[in-house]
Amino acid sequence: MINRVSILALLLGALLALPLSCSKDSGNESNSSSDDTTKTVTDENGEDHEVNISDNKKLVGDSANDILSDASYESIIFEIFYVAGFEPNQNTVANFESFLKNRLNKPEGITIELKEIESPGQDAYSVEDIAALEDAIRTEYNQDGRLAVSGIFLDGEYSENTENGSVLGIAYRNTSFVIFEETVQSFSGQAFGPSLTVLESTVLNHEFGHLMGMVNAGTPMQTEHQDTEHGRHCTDDSCLMYWTAETGEGLLNMLSGGTIPDFDSQCLADLQANGGK
Ligand SMILES: [Zn+2]
Ligand SMILES: [Zn+2]
Repeated sequence: MINRVSILALLLGALLALPLSCSKDSGNESNSSSDDTTKTVTDENGEDHEVNISDNKKLVGDSANDILSDASYESIIFEIFYVAGFEPNQNTVANFESFLKNRLNKPEGITIELKEIESPGQDAYSVEDIAALEDAIRTEYNQDGRLAVSGIFLDGEYSENTENGSVLGIAYRNTSFVIFEETVQSFSGQAFGPSLTVLESTVLNHEFGHLMGMVNAGTPMQTEHQDTEHGRHCTDDSCLMYWTAETGEGLLNMLSGGTIPDFDSQCLADLQANGGK
């Protein structure tokens, strides 16, 4: 118990010194110039297509309703990139798929594609580095009733980590997130600690929760449960959207039972009111 309190105090100290956020908007890109609104992508047959990318360069939470409901998009595709050696394990992908099926109204289906990328070769990455990497490698954008999401499992760590705050993932655009897989792996394998699958799944589901507009950031609250001190997080300490899920140190403390946290009833009510299941 003393241990638990002191870890929390340490984390709180770290947060006061340097606010950490696992959902961070990478600038207001809706104001970007017109030549940033289209991109040429090459399809599987080697043919080039001009696609509109402006709908995928908005702020975190802006596409919450599009993600949750079938009003504008009846299907969704995930383009998950990974550096060799840092791919999510198969159980994590399976867990993510069932998490999505339980929450999203996508009658035309949910597709997850895994794609290996070259290491960008950095020890640490800023949000700007990651957004630029996404722009270089992403090929799937919203099109014809299908919503597209990009996720990157990266080697290296977040450039703004502190001694007591190791960020595991960041949601940084309306349909984009990154997982610092090297950092996630460094927190797994500890004696009596959670498995790599539980750690990966918690971070992945949590970051996608921010894209679903949680908490009070794109998906309106039905009841008061925003932990305003910690930004877009939930006050329920057993909820997937509790703030300690954002750092390795906090997450180890949270995952005592070795199970993946889910949304609490208040978060679920918000998601369902905004078109989700
Ligand atoms: Zn978070
Ligand atoms: Zn909650």
